[in-house]
Amino acid sequence: MIALKDIGVTYDKKSFILKNLSMEIKEGELVSLLGPSGCGKTTTLRVIAGLIDPAEGGFFLAGKDYTRVPVHKRGFGMVFQSYALFPHLSVYDNIGFGLKIKGLDKQSMDEKIRQVLEICGLEGLTDRFPKQLSGGQRQRVALARAIVIEPKLLLLDEPLSNLDAKLRLSMRIEIKRIQKSLGITTVFVTHDQEECFSISDRVAIMNRGVIEQYDRPEVIYRCPKTKFVASFIGFENFMEAKALGENLFELSEGLRYNAIGFEAIKKGGRVTLSIRPEDIVLSEKRGDGQLAGEVRVRTFLGKSYQYEVKTQAGRLLITADDSKKFEAGETVYLTFPREKLIALSR
Ligand code: ATP
Repeated sequence: MIALKDIGVTYDKKSFILKNLSMEIKEGELVSLLGPSGCGKTTTLRVIAGLIDPAEGGFFLAGKDYTRVPVHKRGFGMVFQSYALFPHLSVYDNIGFGLKIKGLDKQSMDEKIRQVLEICGLEGLTDRFPKQLSGGQRQRVALARAIVIEPKLLLLDEPLSNLDAKLRLSMRIEIKRIQKSLGITTVFVTHDQEECFSISDRVAIMNRGVIEQYDRPEVIYRCPKTKFVASFIGFENFMEAKALGENLFELSEGLRYNAIGFEAIKKGGRVTLSIRPEDIVLSEKRGDGQLAGEVRVRTFLGKSYQYEVKTQAGRLLITADDSKKFEAGETVYLTFPREKLIALSR
């Protein structure tokens, strides 16, 4: 339904903030843009909204070129971090603002507003002003105002970042529920990985103006494509290895491991093997195919311990529960479960 094709954005005509950025979004999907601060998430959203004119590439909606269609003619709903409610208008008038501009008659307007008030759980608050609402209620009004115009596309830029942790959690479930029940195609910007993975159909991981991986959250979590994506989503322990076969890698003489990789890796090629700290199994007894190491530092994390272990593959970080406590200086043996070890070529 939506396609960004080779988008390039520059502010100074020298360096590009977005480079050859392409992505497609299917009808009814909730897609998130996730990445560190300054990677270009908001800029991408602003290109889609029509607030930024890209220097290169195009934006297409249902096959039509929308690149030069001005923001007010796109018919998209937007919710920003600050909500930007009109302080002098009641909840009713805030929500009805877009409908009034469209010239809707009073009766149709009342009906549409009644529906979104119900969907967003705002019944009984119509006469209040924004300053008489809680943060979560304001957020709902902003959402109601965006969806009442029945937008072709809903754009959400960190809409939950001003809420406390508990409210964030319940609001993200709300957003997902409302989005699915109305079937509105949605683009969501966030730098919170958990939030993003929990509500998105697909996630685009951005780094310095490019999309490094665009996939379902489960795929990204399980099988990151690049080192950047891997470390961004919690992988540690990057170990150099040689590819012996399609899924077989040699860490050092005699130490061979099965790992999964996103891309086909050439036999004999160099790869980086990586694993999350919580996925390495620590043991005091030597077994087959284990990597030996010496505990250097133990840190108490509350529910678990973190160990820094020196091995011939470098210093590795491991988190383990407190069923067995290892001391600094102790020799330990590491197991990498085959379905948890990944091979990265970039
Ligand atoms: P955050 O999570 O911090 O909001 P982001 O991923 O949304 O970051 P953008 O706001 O898209 O990042 O900014 C991308 C880059 O573009 C940043 O380096 C930013 O400094 C730069 N930038 C954004 N707006 C402008 C502007 N109007 N003029 C010049 N540079 C800009």
